[in-house]
Amino acid sequence: MMNKDSRILVTGAGTMEGIVLLEVLKKYDYKNVSSVTASQNLSQYFKPEPPEFVFLLGDSSGGIKANIEKPATLMTDNLLRILEAVSLSLEFGVKKLIFLASSCVYPKHLEDPMTPQMLMTGPLETTNSAYAMAKLAGIELIQSTRKEYNKNFISCISANCFGPYDDFISEDSHVVSSLIRRMHLAKLKKLDSVSVWGSGNPVRDFLYVEDLVEGLIYLMKNYNESTPVNIASSKGTSIKELSYKIKEVVGFKGTLNFDKSLPDGMKHKVLDNSHINELGWNSNFSLDNALELTYDWHLKNLV
Ligand code: GDP
Repeated sequence: MMNKDSRILVTGAGTMEGIVLLEVLKKYDYKNVSSVTASQNLSQYFKPEPPEFVFLLGDSSGGIKANIEKPATLMTDNLLRILEAVSLSLEFGVKKLIFLASSCVYPKHLEDPMTPQMLMTGPLETTNSAYAMAKLAGIELIQSTRKEYNKNFISCISANCFGPYDDFISEDSHVVSSLIRRMHLAKLKKLDSVSVWGSGNPVRDFLYVEDLVEGLIYLMKNYNESTPVNIASSKGTSIKELSYKIKEVVGFKGTLNFDKSLPDGMKHKVLDNSHINELGWNSNFSLDNALELTYDWHLKNLV
């Protein structure tokens, strides 16, 4: 069982999820936590003393544009890290590893809410199939490692995550941070309108990053089975609703233009969180509250 003195390693430490996980582990007084970012060599973190518990988070992900334009990069970066981390964890006797996948692993034509039993039952959404395939390979590798080596390695699937430390600036960012940034700048520049990509009709399950990392820590401590577990809010919000909520939070007074020439991606993607609820964990932040906290962070940390 992971305790406050356990040796813990967090990969993907430069990402929003990694940074917030490190903050929360510190808050809970875990004393022996190392972290590794994309550019660092993973193997050096296993010698001389290997970690006992590994949080295997991805180093690179991106929004719909990044997935369309850089599919090979996203797939390669993720696959390499997964293979390396799982191999080293096996070789050096890691007690437990949790692998984080994202909701793009689900086939595109499913009914909401999605459960892990539905994985691999249909074709993937084409805008992110390469990245999704890498994450699916990770889930399969975790399950195979359990079978072949009898290791307590587990995996989980996150809903669309957002929050502090997200990428707010680049075109590769996800929808929440992009829209916060765009409407914030439009407010400052007193612009009349802001463009939102796609029809506004797609539905997503938005999860505040602090909820995600609390869920990760909860599963690391309490879950020992092979089936991946969704970490989600299980609430569907359309991009249109989200956009108007962000408009309100940011205080942008202009109009929103939905640009149908840009891609929608998956039509709907809401995850069933009943399994993790049954295990005793619930998400804590409402979308409204989480958007306010995120904009607050943006105001304090970005110009
Ligand atoms: P994903 O589609 O769930 O992989 O994640 P995204 O966060 O990239 O996008 C979710 C939805 O938001 C898609 O339907 C996009 O078309 C829409 N969207 C609207 N405006 C933006 C934007 O500025 N950036 C991104 N990334 N997506 C946007």
